[in-house]
Amino acid sequence: MKKCLTVLLAVSLIFLPSLPSKAVGVREIPEHVLLIVWDGTGRDAIKLLMEKNDLPNLKSLTEEGALVAIDIRRVTRTVPGITEIVTGYPPEVTGIHDSKTKAPIPKGLTLFERLKKEFGPNGIVTFAVVGSKGSTHDINRSGGLFYNALDSIDKMVSPLKTQDEIGAETLSAIETYHNQRFFFFVHFHEPDEAGHRHGGGSKEYYEGILDADRWLGKIMEKLKSVGIIDKTLIYITADHGYNMGMTDHPDAPFIFLATNDTTVMRRGERTDIAPTILARFGIPVETLQPALEGSPLSEFEKTKPYW
Ligand SMILES: [Zn+2]
Repeated sequence: MKKCLTVLLAVSLIFLPSLPSKAVGVREIPEHVLLIVWDGTGRDAIKLLMEKNDLPNLKSLTEEGALVAIDIRRVTRTVPGITEIVTGYPPEVTGIHDSKTKAPIPKGLTLFERLKKEFGPNGIVTFAVVGSKGSTHDINRSGGLFYNALDSIDKMVSPLKTQDEIGAETLSAIETYHNQRFFFFVHFHEPDEAGHRHGGGSKEYYEGILDADRWLGKIMEKLKSVGIIDKTLIYITADHGYNMGMTDHPDAPFIFLATNDTTVMRRGERTDIAPTILARFGIPVETLQPALEGSPLSEFEKTKPYW
């Protein structure tokens, strides 16, 4: 009888449809935020895979939230890309102009530092998991991109070689910190790596994206199992797109933002992502110094007409 029940339970777990989650309320400060980068994932690839129904977890994430276009005005490289995503500032402010720049982000500008300042050193757990290869080395090495922010990052795991390792570290961090307010930065590098090896648009390139989507599914399942999915906002974006048929991304400015944040309502630029997250945490972005270039994707920009 006991065995029978166990089998029944196992079967029901396998076939249990993933339950729609209740999103974090519009005026609610989120308890937990994950900012996930799918390195080198262009908007064209996302569109193609979504049309084929091949990204079930991205689809489920955005059902209540949004999938919006993000454009890049400057170089389509990883190091300046990640810099803009985690700071909201352009190279004119950070000095990070391309992936050859060997300097850290100036002190105080990253989301890690802004959030530690807002909530206090013990008021929020900050965590970064970064893939290993190519120019992303520059994020991790001594004196690398996040060097000045290390005081504000409670745990940084890098460099990691595979998305399985990156995903497993993320699940383990959710398990460890789910009772605390947290901000995680997670960098899945495989679409970019596969693109450099086999070309943008190759089978391997798409497989890197499908694998990142499978990990998104596991992350959402974990958030459900520890009971915090309703208090968690997830933002997925890319540092740059990919030039299809090439093994590089010199001119790949069309990317995306996928989220369960119900306040996101417009397309934008790479420098709008950090202000969106800061605003959701209740930080008055218009008072930050130096002045941010972008603005939250929950607000239509007042200074620029959209048409
Ligand atoms: Zn990249």
